[in-house]
Amino acid sequence: MNFKIAVIPGDGIGPEIVGTSLKVLDKIAEKYDHVFDYTEVLAGGAAIDACDTPLPQETVDICLASDAVLLGALGGPKWDNVPGDKRPEAGLLALRKSLGLYANLRPAILFDELKASCPLKPEIIGNGLDIMVVRELTGGIYFGEKGRDGENAAWDIMKYTRPEVLRIARKAFDIAMKRNKKVTNVDKANVLEVSRFWRSCVEEVAKDYPEVELNHLYVDNAAMQLVINPKQFDVIVTGNLFGDILSDEASMITGSIGMLPSASMADGKFGMFEPIHGSAPDIANQNKANPIATIVSVAMMLRYSLDLTKEANAIDAAVQKTLAQGYRTGDIFSDGMTLVGTIEMGQKIIENL
Ligand code: NAD
Repeated sequence: MNFKIAVIPGDGIGPEIVGTSLKVLDKIAEKYDHVFDYTEVLAGGAAIDACDTPLPQETVDICLASDAVLLGALGGPKWDNVPGDKRPEAGLLALRKSLGLYANLRPAILFDELKASCPLKPEIIGNGLDIMVVRELTGGIYFGEKGRDGENAAWDIMKYTRPEVLRIARKAFDIAMKRNKKVTNVDKANVLEVSRFWRSCVEEVAKDYPEVELNHLYVDNAAMQLVINPKQFDVIVTGNLFGDILSDEASMITGSIGMLPSASMADGKFGMFEPIHGSAPDIANQNKANPIATIVSVAMMLRYSLDLTKEANAIDAAVQKTLAQGYRTGDIFSDGMTLVGTIEMGQKIIENL
């Protein structure tokens, strides 16, 4: 099949990790007889340098005309002193908004081979972790009415509408159907009216997914359960504020920033896929960056935007095999392992495909 992919290498280590990941995708194309048509576009610092804006309109247009977007990372010290609305990060927020990306998917995966990087006790993590946090990204308290009464008071309103909750809940249940068929809804329904409303909408959606088990946790309990019994979770669905905090907590229990992918999804299958880490200017252009977060972001793109589950599973399996063979970039290196650079890690994964 033919697919159009918009590619934003970005800044710092962005071009290195994206370049390596596209070689993995090329191998998938060859092996499974697909055509991936890449269009490289600018955003962030590279766009500021070339076009004096962190998000050229052409980038938005090309992304919207594609089946999916692959992003490296944006930003770096070179652009730290440009005005707020022209900073690379402003380009990223504007890009997510322009593409209508309302669902943020953050898997927290701990491979058996990297158990030593996990801050939790071995008996808690067993043979690894695989949790998916589905966070609502464009509503709730971050986008509600806000105000300030001088020195006396300030407020931010947490509001959700029915369509906003129904669509994020549906996303979470669809994802659970492709995984272990369990959804944990996280809210604060014992205190907040908005959470009671949110919960009733989630329960409504659950009726359409009889195969998926649904349970509810209050956010304070969920934060605790993530560190004492993380294996109980499959898919967690939650609002913008709670999701911001819980997705960081969930990803950090795996201990390695260079390993974790993410997806931001719009209606239908369109999405943008990127590693959770930044542009790592301290190691840029040194062949030191771990490309695995971006390579597994490509696997997410195949799974969620292009419906190529078999191909996505092949990438995940090749990554795991490469780790089992003992190859490590500097960020995940431990004694007895073989140290490799960005390019070599990519080559080993391709060999294992
Ligand atoms: P960072 O994630 O870039 O780096 C934090 C630390 O992790 C550094 O020591 C870095 O070397 C290391 N690291 C990150 N990714 C790695 C990888 N793939 N392999 C090996 N080591 C890796 O965070 P930061 O230093 O706070 O930010 C640097 C720049 O990135 C800033 O300009 C920031 O605004 C930007 N940023 C961009 C995004 C994004 O594009 N989504 C996200 C976060 C930060």
